[in-house]
Amino acid sequence: MASENKNIHNALRQVNLNLPHFSLNGFSISGLSTYLQIPELDFMVDIGECPLSAVPINHLFLTHAHGDHARCLMRHHSLRKMTGIAKDAIYYIPEPFVEKAKAWIKAEALFENVPEYKFRYPEIQAVIPNERVHLAYRKDLALEIFPVEHSIPSMGCTLFRYKKKLKQELLNATPEELIQKRLSGEKITNDIYEPLISFMGDCKTESLKNMPYLLDSEVIVMECTFINDEDEEMAHLKSHSHLNEIVRILEEIGDSAKCKCLVLNHFSMKYPEKHILSVMEKKIPDSWKEKVKVLL
Ligand SMILES: [Zn+2]
Ligand SMILES: [Zn+2]
Repeated sequence: MASENKNIHNALRQVNLNLPHFSLNGFSISGLSTYLQIPELDFMVDIGECPLSAVPINHLFLTHAHGDHARCLMRHHSLRKMTGIAKDAIYYIPEPFVEKAKAWIKAEALFENVPEYKFRYPEIQAVIPNERVHLAYRKDLALEIFPVEHSIPSMGCTLFRYKKKLKQELLNATPEELIQKRLSGEKITNDIYEPLISFMGDCKTESLKNMPYLLDSEVIVMECTFINDEDEEMAHLKSHSHLNEIVRILEEIGDSAKCKCLVLNHFSMKYPEKHILSVMEKKIPDSWKEKVKVLL
């Protein structure tokens, strides 16, 4: 008889983190499942499980094709139809993966014996690295993706809050003057994009090292698959990040980053929760202790 293993992480137990301006709900353990939802922003990243709380969320970004991140995409689509949500969810998929994603979706429908005349693709929007797109139902938010280094092609993303701000030189203008300028076709505002949250997805630590400006997002979600000293080599072999390398970046950057919160997730299944927490306590530099949260 199998004995109870206290180290097993439960993918169906959703974790809720209260961040400065929104909450991050989800789960992320390497190889088991990763899904991350921000209900306030109507946005989620990856869908390794599809709990009912994911169903009303209208925008999903898929980082890469590994099953523990992607496998419930069609479940999300079907559950919306089953629960009577008429509006299409928008699936933001990196452009280089779109054709394969479509072949996979079609194969799943064939397996389920969906007749050809009934089959319809879900609403997929191809996204291209470094091209900012406004979310379909949230024009105040914009998404930008960037490539990261992993064992297969993989992307991270930043979600920006979009605002229009009156131009500096017009701050003292009267309402009449502003109306006049607008009527004459002059642009009186600047477009402002504030980086709210960046998701690194699955990647080597080098990806963060090569894009340190991502630490200027208010929140950054970074994978931290390996944490034990003897696993540094393993992290390189498996194209994942190691805590020791993340700590080196944090020490280098010190207080200069604007980030208010760094969420570490995607720990290896082999580490029990207690072990992860005690290693964090030991290794995270004091200047970052307040800002670092673990999704466990
Ligand atoms: Zn993963
Ligand atoms: Zn992966």
